[in-house]
Amino acid sequence: MTDLSVASTARPPTFDVEAIRRDFPILSQQVNGKPLVYLDNGASAQKPEAVLNAMDRYYREMHSNVHRGAHTLGDRATAAFEGARETVRRFLNAESTREIIWTRGTTEAINLVANGLAPRLKPGDEILVSHMEHHANIVPWQMIAERTGARVLPIQVTPDGELDLDSFHSLLNDRTRILALTHVSNVLGTVNPVAPLIEEAKKRGILTLIDGAQAVPHFQPDVRALDCDFYVFSSHKVFGPTGIGVLYGRAQLLEEMPPYQGGGEMIERVSFERTTWNVLPYKFEAGTPAIAEAVGLGAALDYLGGLDRAAVEAAENALLARANELVDSVPGMKIIGTAREKVPVMSFKIEGLHPSDIGTLLDQQGIAIRTGHHCAMPLMDFYGVPGTARASFAFYNTLEEVDRLFTGLQKIQRLFA
Ligand code: PLP
Repeated sequence: MTDLSVASTARPPTFDVEAIRRDFPILSQQVNGKPLVYLDNGASAQKPEAVLNAMDRYYREMHSNVHRGAHTLGDRATAAFEGARETVRRFLNAESTREIIWTRGTTEAINLVANGLAPRLKPGDEILVSHMEHHANIVPWQMIAERTGARVLPIQVTPDGELDLDSFHSLLNDRTRILALTHVSNVLGTVNPVAPLIEEAKKRGILTLIDGAQAVPHFQPDVRALDCDFYVFSSHKVFGPTGIGVLYGRAQLLEEMPPYQGGGEMIERVSFERTTWNVLPYKFEAGTPAIAEAVGLGAALDYLGGLDRAAVEAAENALLARANELVDSVPGMKIIGTAREKVPVMSFKIEGLHPSDIGTLLDQQGIAIRTGHHCAMPLMDFYGVPGTARASFAFYNTLEEVDRLFTGLQKIQRLFA
């Protein structure tokens, strides 16, 4: 079937997607002679004009180093930089900007926390992650476990791609110290029920870190409602620039943790006898920070805040529903990850085709997806595949683009399978 004759029951988005697309200049280009269909948002999302303009304006009108206070440009840069921190605080509903630490991204944020919690760990202690984690939420814990004698244990996943709650309960014991869990799986799109798990962990005095890298592009977390100890995400996945990310941490824990890196900004006073640390959040921000990137992230969150989030969510659900309707139109296509609660991410395989060939052949048609292990090798092992093809949608994608993906897949399947 080539004409996508499956009737669409997907609800059309209630917001003007064409107007939204005009905010993202990169989308209106041809790739390999075809209009670009960008479905690799899980790897990195595109940037609205508001972000590009904010960074451009920052460099044209206010760039200087921050927190030096000696001149007007320095004051402007500091105001923009700290204003962005306040925007992030509001976005996460954190209590104070003292709890918002700039990092290079999710990966660095998790490494920072793992290193900061290491002094609390002793041989035999246990760190729970899940089988669906990105390597960024496995490897830093393994490295700390090696240093401290602790162990990293995975919560199992069901064949549908949900967290196995029986496995979670059976792993909890007196040695469990840390629960580090992804809010949303980058491979499966599964939205994990983190709130009750955090609640249960808290009752046992277990510290909790939530990896929000794939959650924040789709919904707004509330760290106080979740009551987690740490929440981390990357700017570039939430329509902001690369090179910056966020660690939210409970102030008391951040106070107790040692600094991650040494250098400028993170000190109060340096002497060869005794060096002391700056107050939060600067204690964790050694060196000149990514100032323009912080400003850009603030602009991205402001842009998101200006959208009707319910309409955005409905539009995203419609994209996923349309994709699910069309799966049977491609012989041999199988979805990996059919959890009840999902963001619009679709991992799949097609019998007889290697994922990387699917990616290359779609690219020839101007369609960008991701293929491979998605930095989640344990999950690939669980499903017995070397990798998957993954289409990950954002609110600026259209139902027509979903149809183009499936037309492309049908063509590839006919030619090569
Ligand atoms: N965690 C998850 C769930 C991710 O999807 C990613 C990136 O794909 C990361 C962590 C790492 O993010 P970054 O490379 O921006 O540090």
